[in-house]
Amino acid sequence: MTIRVLENTCVGCGECVPVCPTEALSVWTLASCEESLCTDCLECVPYCPVDALAE
Ligand code: SF4
Ligand code: SF4
Repeated sequence: MTIRVLENTCVGCGECVPVCPTEALSVWTLASCEESLCTDCLECVPYCPVDALAE
């Protein structure tokens, strides 16, 4: 499992990007998670202000 970005919820604020220890998250218009880098540590989840990160 890796983190999923709920595309209808994400507002592209970028808050999650620096939280990820493996730099799996990036934001262009919306956040995206590079599955090969995500270790499913879930550290990013509580940092999203709109709860757009889900397992
Ligand atoms: S679950 Fe962990 S490794 Fe995966 S995107 Fe979130 S912070 Fe990064
Ligand atoms: S913190 Fe949440 S709303 Fe902001 S870019 Fe990341 S996933 Fe999207």
